[in-house]
Amino acid sequence: MARTRRTRAAGRLTATATALTCVVALLTAGCTGDSDGFRPGAADAGDPYVPGHGNGGYDVTHYGLDVRYDPPTDRLTGRAVITATATQDLSRFNLDLVGLHVATVRVGDAPADHRRSDGELVVTPRDGLPRGRQFTVSVDYAGVPTAVEDGSLGSGGFLHTADGAVALGQPDSAATWFPVNDHPSDKASFDLAVTVPDGVAALSNGVPGPKSSADGWTTWRWSERTPMASYLSTLVIGDYRVVTGTHAGRPMVTAVAASLPATGAAASSLARTGEIVDFLASRFGPYPFESYGGIVIADERIGYALETQSRPVYGPAFFAEDQPNPGVVAHELAHQWFGDSVSLTRWGDIWLNEGFASYAEWLWEEHDGGRTAQRNFELQYAKTDWSQPSVEPGRELMFGTAVYKRGALAVHALRRTVGDDTFFRILRTWTTERATGNATTADLVTLAERVAGRQLRPLFDAWLVGGSAPTLP
Ligand SMILES: [Zn+2]
Repeated sequence: MARTRRTRAAGRLTATATALTCVVALLTAGCTGDSDGFRPGAADAGDPYVPGHGNGGYDVTHYGLDVRYDPPTDRLTGRAVITATATQDLSRFNLDLVGLHVATVRVGDAPADHRRSDGELVVTPRDGLPRGRQFTVSVDYAGVPTAVEDGSLGSGGFLHTADGAVALGQPDSAATWFPVNDHPSDKASFDLAVTVPDGVAALSNGVPGPKSSADGWTTWRWSERTPMASYLSTLVIGDYRVVTGTHAGRPMVTAVAASLPATGAAASSLARTGEIVDFLASRFGPYPFESYGGIVIADERIGYALETQSRPVYGPAFFAEDQPNPGVVAHELAHQWFGDSVSLTRWGDIWLNEGFASYAEWLWEEHDGGRTAQRNFELQYAKTDWSQPSVEPGRELMFGTAVYKRGALAVHALRRTVGDDTFFRILRTWTTERATGNATTADLVTLAERVAGRQLRPLFDAWLVGGSAPTLP
């Protein structure tokens, strides 16, 4: 994510994962297991940055979504078919779903009991699901989706706009429009069919499929076959200039809100997507997904850009006063490697996303004839507040300067220490070995030490979490 405003206090309490899991479990059934050995899945992922988000007891492999959205009434109807595997003997499990009315839930072919509890859809299948069993959950739901206003990021979730809607947001947004295991530790492939009135565009992640029309409605289809974290899903509906082509043999879909100038800064910056992605691939290794693109929206409530998988979404403020901004494009595209392909295991490691994406802005600026990465490093070093850690920054500072800029400093310090050849070999090894998976800061340190053949833990400690300015390498 790239931001156009300074971080505001989140105003949201964090709770310990253990306590919260137990409270939610008590509300739904109790903290003890069932007598036959089958027991409820956890009601959250145990990540203290996002209490209540994610769930335990199963692993989703695929979301098949079929939704219809009517802009004049803001009403969404949907069916989600979720394919998952039980990771324990499971008597009951939760999905995350905010608002919306659930009509029916089926597990396999059988109707399942279900109830709602504060952002959770609690599903009790007729029979327990043994560990290792693959199963499908079908959920029919409808309603007027809601926005997420948690204060730290500006608007997110499902926003009704002047001409349609935008579903977007980090760390959460997906649960406002489909039932989901809403934590990046559970990635899954994704197929979406979205039906909107004729003449309205409906954009999402991945490869475009065939469109079809009937009775005044058009169905747009999108397929993201590479596992995707739920916060990287998006749905953008409205009046857009959509350009469909190919780049490097893969589909490239870009879209700019029709209310923005056809030849303005947003369109010209987005048009550099292929060039920028090729530059980043020359540094980070092969592009990890089957499609490319980007979407510029006009709604000013979105004061950020987000690296939604294969097709980032940019708020209009990045192109204010008609100034081109390839830097933000480089940032969001760098996330396709750092964050989207190699994803977080827990939000406390978000510098792994933002530090590398911020560093990519420096690489791009140097490549594009601007300031060198070394010069950006020196300028940033001089103004850094070393009391703020990059790792475990706290929920309220998860989008703070220490995550972005101090993270980028740490990346460049690694480069200065091990030299360019080893540095870029570390990056390519990371994006290759960890492709489509999840990782932690400790994983990166271990991999860097292995590739470099030397101890690097003290370096990472000093640059990421030490309380005073590290010695320049
Ligand atoms: Zn970012």
